[in-house]
Amino acid sequence: MNNTYAEMDRAYHLHPFTSLRAHAAGHPTVIVRGKGCRLWDSMGREYLDAMAGLWCVNVGYGRREIAATMREQAEKLAYYHAFASMTSEAPAELAERVVTMAPSGFSKVFFGNSGSDANDTAVKLVWYYNNTMGRPLKKKILARSRAYHGVTVAAGSLTGLDGVHESFDLPLIEVPRLTTPHYYWVADSGISETEFSEQLAQQLESVIEQEGAETIGAMIAEPVMGAGGVFVPPRGYFELIQPILKSNDILLIADEVISGFGRLGADFGSNLFQIEPDIMTIAKGLTSGYQPLSGCIVTDSVYEVIERGSERVGFFGHGYTYSAHPVAAATALINLDIIERENLINASAERGEYLNRQLNAKVAPHPLVGNVRSKGLIAGVELVAKKTPRESFDPQLEVAKRVYQAALGRGLITRALQSSEILAISPPLVISTTEIDELISKLTAALDEVCGELDSSSSSGAHSRVA
Ligand code: PLP
Repeated sequence: MNNTYAEMDRAYHLHPFTSLRAHAAGHPTVIVRGKGCRLWDSMGREYLDAMAGLWCVNVGYGRREIAATMREQAEKLAYYHAFASMTSEAPAELAERVVTMAPSGFSKVFFGNSGSDANDTAVKLVWYYNNTMGRPLKKKILARSRAYHGVTVAAGSLTGLDGVHESFDLPLIEVPRLTTPHYYWVADSGISETEFSEQLAQQLESVIEQEGAETIGAMIAEPVMGAGGVFVPPRGYFELIQPILKSNDILLIADEVISGFGRLGADFGSNLFQIEPDIMTIAKGLTSGYQPLSGCIVTDSVYEVIERGSERVGFFGHGYTYSAHPVAAATALINLDIIERENLINASAERGEYLNRQLNAKVAPHPLVGNVRSKGLIAGVELVAKKTPRESFDPQLEVAKRVYQAALGRGLITRALQSSEILAISPPLVISTTEIDELISKLTAALDEVCGELDSSSSSGAHSRVA
């Protein structure tokens, strides 16, 4: 009986980001319930969800207050749209709240349903803006290698991961690539973080010169890169690149889909790193995943041009059936109330410090771990075959995936990131220090288990660890 859902799923569900053949032959885990940072599956197993779902359940699972608000809104007005000047109460209130929370200079928010569609909207707004300004060539969007901005046709093109492009005919729009600001692995040995940032800024200047500033509309950047590997920007990075973008009339899109609403121990990554974007995209923590909702927020100077453009066209020809969905907006409002009332942004900063100390003290020294990095409650644990000189694992060994599996077997959910040997951690902001201790001890036990397996297979000559 317990397996019925697993069987239906295997038979009929085409899964996102999944090894499809392995799924068809495997036993999917059916999650049935959540409370706080905990999840339970259909077999009664309990998990500590150190990923907050997909970096999104900031207030934790099982909030009755949110469920009650969703129900009330659904009973009063389950749906209405925002086309042709129509609106409803919750989206109007949420628009005011989001714009007021956003850094100064922002004046309007467009609502969508996912981080990907918010980034698609951002790209379209950059094009609309430049077409209205009479600069129709300014179309390219600069993005970093290993960026993650989603999977729709434009957002998927911005994403800098091969697995998102391959066989999907992406990128479909012109996206000149910049180097990943990954100090540990990419910077030349011996240079400081600031020197690395200077090199990245120089690279930006030469890419702009090569491509022609008159062809580049914007650059998009996550304040801390998430799904590509959890890369905290090196010292001085945003301070150095912003003046270059400004002097070339290139807009900056901050993808705050993960970092917005407390993940980094601040309201927005833009405030934390003194980024002054022209466009900001938000999703995930806006509703803590209780409803799908995203936003694309624009500064007044961008909005003013878009308004002019819509006058010329006759109307603003962009929008979704579910833009400004009243149940999603009501969910966001109560979620933001909880974040404020429970001081979860400060909690994220404080518990993030604790997590960082524990990772450095107990995980970083592990023989499989080359580097740990974190900001607020997001962290990356990079696995290496050899610490000095650094050597990466043979990808065929799938080391991060094995550590993920070993942790899962102990009731801990982390995430092995695509095309890398990096484990991500991004728990609900309500995680306690006791739960962080549990996370660390289960993670180190999982690392020990895989280390033991690797040692015994390499001593039997089965595998070389090194790529
Ligand atoms: N941008 C960032 C930074 C993300 O991490 C994600 C998803 O993880 C997205 C955009 C895409 O969001 P969605 O999966 O809701 O389309």
